[in-house]
Amino acid sequence: EYVILNGEILPRQDARIDVEDRGYQFGDGVYEVIRIYNGKMFTVTEHLERLEASAEKIGMKLAWTITELEVLFARLIEINSLETGIVYMQVTRGISPRSHAYPPAGTAQTLVAYTRNMPRPELNFSDGVKTILTEDIRWLRCDIKSLNLLGNIMAKQKAAEAGCYEAILHRGEKVTEGSSSNIFIIKDGSMYTHPANNFILNGITRQTIEKLCAAHGIPFIEKEFSVAELEDADEVIVGSTTSEVTPVVEIEGKPVGDGKPGHVTRQLQKLFDGEIERQCGK
Ligand code: PLP
Repeated sequence: EYVILNGEILPRQDARIDVEDRGYQFGDGVYEVIRIYNGKMFTVTEHLERLEASAEKIGMKLAWTITELEVLFARLIEINSLETGIVYMQVTRGISPRSHAYPPAGTAQTLVAYTRNMPRPELNFSDGVKTILTEDIRWLRCDIKSLNLLGNIMAKQKAAEAGCYEAILHRGEKVTEGSSSNIFIIKDGSMYTHPANNFILNGITRQTIEKLCAAHGIPFIEKEFSVAELEDADEVIVGSTTSEVTPVVEIEGKPVGDGKPGHVTRQLQKLFDGEIERQCGK
């Protein structure tokens, strides 16, 4: 099993990071998760561009170009013989004596990446998942894919303790997103999701779903919706890199629609499969 540390590919046990890495001390960095199907990265450019954008939003200019990263990750996937899974990567502001303000210019960023075998969650696709609702207590820059995930992990833990797959977050009355996903509702044949502003991460899956809807005549409306509208939806979807298009069949113990994955969800799942095949082969 190999990993990437800075520009190099090396055995996992040889990768060492200093105790004063700012990622470790402050969560001062950004990350991405890219899906691998058939040994190929799905929506790789979108993910790497978002990594660069997240870095810029926290005042970091990535020390690696998108092309360099893509080449590195492709080599890692190959050397680890990964077929179906993910590549995780994070870049931190580097190693420096602990002090809140940014370290001196020229401090080397730390890049870490590894792969993980991960089958597609087929049972969730067919049967759907249960969810809970919880207040969104995160900060006001959820558009940044930052390493700081306390608000997200506390919400996910609450879902796990309730035997649920995901926590749906709301700021007061308005649904924002999932703890590690975007949330979509379908009402009378139209799809609704929170606008891509500072309150949510603009998911790459969300963007793929938007393109598929546009290409296949499903109205895709970026508009805030309330908890009441969520509970009244015909269909609800959790969308993310690892979850793809996962139907939600229960919210806080109450069924969504008739309690089974709906037909727009089914249609989207097929379209999503088609897009995977188009990019990564069968
Ligand atoms: N929102 C949050 C908070 C996330 O953590 C994620 C992914 O992990 C998403 C949305 C979905 O983003 P993507 O589709 O790019 O995986």
